[in-house]
Amino acid sequence: MVLNALDAAERGAVIRTRTRCIGAERGDGVRRDIWRLVLDVRGRRDTATARVLVNATGPWLKLFATNVLRETAPVPARLDKGSHIVVRRLFEHDRGYIFQTRDARVVFALPFEHDFTLIGTTDQGFAGDPGNVKPSADEIVYLCDAANQYFRASIAPADVVWSFAGVRSLYDDGSRKAQDVSRDYVLKLDERAGEAPLLTVYGGKITTYRRLAEHAIDRLVQVLAQVLAHAIKAGPAWTRDSHLPGGEFPVDGVEALVAKTRKSRPFLTIEHARRLVRAYGTRLERVLGPARRLEDLGPCFGGDLTGAEVRYLMEREWAQTADDVLWRRSKLGLRLSAEERGRLARFMTATVGAC
Ligand SMILES: Cc1cc2nc3c(=O)[nH]c(=O)nc-3n(C[C@H](O)[C@H](O)[C@H](O)COP(=O)(O)OP(=O)(O)OC[C@H]3O[C@@H](n4cnc5c(N)ncnc54)[C@H](O)[C@@H]3O)c2cc1C
Repeated sequence: MVLNALDAAERGAVIRTRTRCIGAERGDGVRRDIWRLVLDVRGRRDTATARVLVNATGPWLKLFATNVLRETAPVPARLDKGSHIVVRRLFEHDRGYIFQTRDARVVFALPFEHDFTLIGTTDQGFAGDPGNVKPSADEIVYLCDAANQYFRASIAPADVVWSFAGVRSLYDDGSRKAQDVSRDYVLKLDERAGEAPLLTVYGGKITTYRRLAEHAIDRLVQVLAQVLAHAIKAGPAWTRDSHLPGGEFPVDGVEALVAKTRKSRPFLTIEHARRLVRAYGTRLERVLGPARRLEDLGPCFGGDLTGAEVRYLMEREWAQTADDVLWRRSKLGLRLSAEERGRLARFMTATVGAC
């Protein structure tokens, strides 16, 4: 997801990470065609104005509507929690499995980070703070049992090396079960004559986000033209064939790029070059900079993570903490010991001033 933010930043957007919108009101009592926003930037207050506001806060949609927008009407959103477990690799090939479980759900097992297998997901209604979501002990047992029905090797909760959960907000169409609710996105526009519009995004998938964004722009352009009382035109849709930063090479060109990289940087092992290509595509040149020897990449923190890569993530991809690097920008957390993670955190603290 960070590549979308990077792409947007390179096209002129201002990206403000760790910035929470805590207040949003239409106008200042006189003009109502503008949003006035109150922001919390790591404990510091700031303000901003906007012509339109899009509530695309995913699982926080309902909280944002009630606590920030102070909407009183019921918000037709439903939260659905999915949990995953990661265990040591259960099969050698690179294909995935989809299993039908005894209770008529679907669980998948996928190759993950080369040495691991990812098993997920559960589907449960959720209430609470989506920021603190974790798989429950019951869900972990459920996923182990589901895998044990199909694989020869048996797994137990003690074999789980990492687990994580996520929450999505779905448009509440009144279905009884979480798995029956549509995953399609729904856009709801709150437009009032002469007032700044609010667009709320329900549901959606990573696979459909570009289409969603283009539909959202189409809706907003129409309504903005009315608010501003003059015609405005969006340019033609362009995202269909555009690549994300670093993705300007053929989809089957990974190994060719790995080979090219190793030719110019023979000090990289094939595994290291492959991981960098998969993570950064052609942008790996920016990660590696002028390095001609492994030592030029700075300290190694374990799992082939080097100082050069950490610096790149801090300077270009807004990484601020060891968890940003180890879990949000990569999954190298699976490979670093507690001591190595501590060393990385100290390196990042020392580097902050230099970035
Ligand atoms: C378990 C699970 C499995 C999934 N599997 C798939 C899959 O296989 N394929 C697929 O295509 N999709 C999948 N999805 C769906 C996909 O993850 C979501 O559609 C996607 O992440 C939604 O992106 P988003 O930007 O709308 O929301 P999010 O990624 O949730 O982003 C919302 C953002 O809003 C921010 N925010 C919240 N409140 C505020 C505030 N007050 N001020 C400022 N910012 C705020 C949050 O910090 C967050 O960054 C899955 C989802 C889940 C939960």
